[in-house]
Amino acid sequence: MQPLFSLEAPESANDERFDGLTRLARRHFGVMAALLTTGVGEPQIRSCDGLALRGVLRVGPLGVVQGHSDALLVVPDAHCDERFRHHEWVTGAPHVRFLAVCSLQDSAGTVIGRLFLLHDQPRELDAPQRQAFHEFAGLAAELLARDEADARLQRELGVLRESERRMALAIAGSGTGIWDRNVATGDIYYSTGWKTLLGYAEHEVGNHIEESYTRVHPADLEYVKATMQAHFEQRIGVYEVEHRLRCRDGSYKWVCSRGKVVERDATGKALRMIGTTTDVTAMRRLSEQVQQTAALMTDLTNEIPGMAFQYQRLPDGRSFFSYASAGVRDIYGLTPEQLAASGEALHGIIHPDDLAPYLASFEASAKDLTPWHLEYRVQLPGRGICWRQGDARPRRLEDGSVLWHGFITDVTEWKQVEAELQVFATTDSLTQLSNRRHFMQLLDTELSRVQRSAGHCATVLMLDLDHFKAINDRWGHSVGDQALRHFAAILRGQLRKTDAAGRMGGEEFAVVLSEANIDQAVTFARRIQSELAKSPVLIAEERIPLAVSIGVTVVNATDASTEVTLSRSDMALYRAKRGGRNRIECH
Ligand code: GH3
Ligand code: MG
Ligand code: MG
Repeated sequence: MQPLFSLEAPESANDERFDGLTRLARRHFGVMAALLTTGVGEPQIRSCDGLALRGVLRVGPLGVVQGHSDALLVVPDAHCDERFRHHEWVTGAPHVRFLAVCSLQDSAGTVIGRLFLLHDQPRELDAPQRQAFHEFAGLAAELLARDEADARLQRELGVLRESERRMALAIAGSGTGIWDRNVATGDIYYSTGWKTLLGYAEHEVGNHIEESYTRVHPADLEYVKATMQAHFEQRIGVYEVEHRLRCRDGSYKWVCSRGKVVERDATGKALRMIGTTTDVTAMRRLSEQVQQTAALMTDLTNEIPGMAFQYQRLPDGRSFFSYASAGVRDIYGLTPEQLAASGEALHGIIHPDDLAPYLASFEASAKDLTPWHLEYRVQLPGRGICWRQGDARPRRLEDGSVLWHGFITDVTEWKQVEAELQVFATTDSLTQLSNRRHFMQLLDTELSRVQRSAGHCATVLMLDLDHFKAINDRWGHSVGDQALRHFAAILRGQLRKTDAAGRMGGEEFAVVLSEANIDQAVTFARRIQSELAKSPVLIAEERIPLAVSIGVTVVNATDASTEVTLSRSDMALYRAKRGGRNRIECH
C-alpha cells in the first residue's frame, strides 16, 4: 500500500493566508489537523495545521477520495470503513479515525484542490457543521483562485520584463539611440546608447536642447529645426530627418532622427517629445555607391552608339525587354517604355522577310543556350529600310525563363559597303558582267542542279570575238574597250532571268543557259551573231564590224567539275575558229 504522504517530497510554497485558514478550520471544528491540498493528479500540501506534513500527498487511500465525485466526503470512523481501516495512517501514526474532505472548485467548476479535516477520534459533522465546512472550502477555493491569478500575473510580468530587456538590447545593438525632450523647458534626455552612438561618455553630453543644436552639422541645422517646428505645429504627423551629427572625435555621422510629440496641452502646444536617432552612415555610403554604379551603367549604355538591352522570355512564351538603353530610339524608333511593354512591339518594325528568322534565332538560342547573333532589316518611318546586327548571351533563370543581355548596332552603312564589295568581287568592271570567278560559281550551281534533278538540263556557250587584236591595233585600246562593252550589252539583252553571262578574260565570254537543250543554245548563239551584225560599234560615224565565234556544249550530269564542261565548250570554240570564225560549233 502506498503512503498517503511523503516527507521527502519537494517543499511547496506555504502562504500565511492558507496557514491562517487551516488554523481557523482546525480550531473551529476542534479536530486534530486541517489540511489544504492543491492540484488533483499529484496533490501538493499547501498548508497543514496540527500535523507536520509537507510536500506531495500521495494517492494511496486517497484514491477513494480522488475518485469521489461528491463535493463532500465524511468518514465518521475509519475503523468501520472498509476503504480506510487497513491503511497505515489509520493503523499507525497519526492514528486517524475521522476524515472529512471537501473539494475546492474554481468559477468554472473545475476541482483545483481539497480541504481535509482529520481527527484521532470518531465523530460526525452535523448539518450546520457541514455548512460551515462548505463555507471554509469556498473561502479556500477563492484564495487558491486568487493565488493562481497572482502566479499567472507574475509569470506574465516575467515574460514582459524579458521582452523589454531584449528590446533594450536590440535597440542598443542596432545603432539606435533614444531621446526624450521636454519641449516646454528645453530639457532633453539621451539614452546611454545614444551617447555611445557618437562616441560620448555618459557625462559628456549635456541635457539642454541648445547644446544639442551645436552638434548638428551647420548645413543641416536650419532644415532640422524647420522640420521639428512643422511637427510641433502639427503640419506633419511625425518628425523625420536625415542629417549629420558631430561625434566626440569631431567627425560627422549621418543619422536618421525620428520622433513624435507624445504630450500636448489643451491648446495643442507640444509638451513632450520622444524619438530615436539611428546611424545611417553606412547605409548612405552604400546607397551613394549604388547610385554611382547605376549612373555609370546608364551613362555607358546610353552614350555609346547602339542599344544595350536585357530581354526576358517567360516559360509561357511572353517576352519583354526589361531594359533598353536610350539607343532604342535610334535602333527601333521606339521609347524604352514601348519596348518594355512587350517584345511584340518589334513585330511591326522588323522587315516582314526577316521576322521569321528573327523569332527562330531567339528560339534556337533559348533552346540550346547558345549566343544569339543575327543581321536583319528594320523598317523605320521616315528612314526606310535599315540593317541591324544583334548579339546577346542567354541565361536560364530558376523559373524557367531565359534572360539575354546584349547589344544591337546599326550596320546599314556596313551592309552597303559589304554589298558594294560583293559587286566589286563578282563583277567585271569594264562590262558589268560576272567575272570569271563568279561565273564559275554560277556554273557550279547549275551543274549541281543538273546532277540533282533528272529532268533539268543546261547548256554552256563559250564566245570569243574574232580578230579583236586588229581592232585594238587600228582604232586604239579605248575603242577596243568600247567594243567589249557593246558586245556585253548585246549579250545581256538576250539573257533570261535564269541565264548568266560572264567575261572569262580579254575578249572571251561565257554564257550558261538554264533549262535549254543544244538546239535552243544554238538558236541563242545565232541570235547573238545576228544582233552583233545588225548593230556594229559606231565611232565618229565609222562602223566597226564585230564578229564572234561560239562553242556550245551541254552540261552533263556526269561532269566531274565545271572545268570539264568548260573544256568541251572551249574545244567547240576552237573548232569554230579553225573553221573560219564567225561560226557556231557544238561538242
Ligand atoms: P582570234 O580571232 O583568234 O580570237 O584573234 P584575236 O585577235 O581576237 O585573238 P588574240 O588572243 O590574238 O588577241 C586578243 C586581244 O584582245 C589581245 C588583247 O590586246 C586584246 N584585249 C584583251 N583584253 C582587252 C581589253 O580589256 N581591252 C582591249 N581594248 N583589248 C583587250
Ligand atoms: Mg579573239
Ligand atoms: Mg581570245
